[in-house]
Parts: sequence; C-alpha cells; structure tokens
Amino acid sequence: MSKTAKPCEQCNQMVEIRYRIQWDESRQWYQVCPDCWQKLSENNPLYRYGGTWKAKKRRNAKLTINNEQ
Ligand SMILES: [Zn+2]
Repeated sequence: MSKTAKPCEQCNQMVEIRYRIQWDESRQWYQVCPDCWQKLSENNPLYRYGGTWKAKKRRNAKLTINNEQ
C-alpha cells in the first residue's frame, strides 16, 4: 500500500523497514525484512549487521530556528 515500501531481498515482501545484513559466504549485503533478519541472523556466525533502512515518511520538515535573545 505504501509507495515507499521496498521488497525484502529474501522473501519479496514489501516492507518499510529493512535490515542491511550479510549472512552468507558471498559477503554480499542484503536488505531484508525483520522476519528474514531474525531467521537469517539466528545462530549464524556469518551474520553481520550493516544498518537499517527505513522508508522516509514525509514529516513537516520544519527548520526549527530558535530566536533566542
Ligand atoms: Zn523477508
């Protein structure tokens, strides 16, 4: 439903949060959904965490300027 979701590279589920991990001997980085992340990281000596990708939600990108005097 969300335009910002991206597919998990493991199960192709559309997700808004993906984890960037290495989990096999190819040492490739994969972006996977939280479900796959859990499965792939469990008891996996090759597992490496490389960050979290989140869909950017449009917030009010207000620049907060405090005019303190
Ligand atoms: Zn997945």
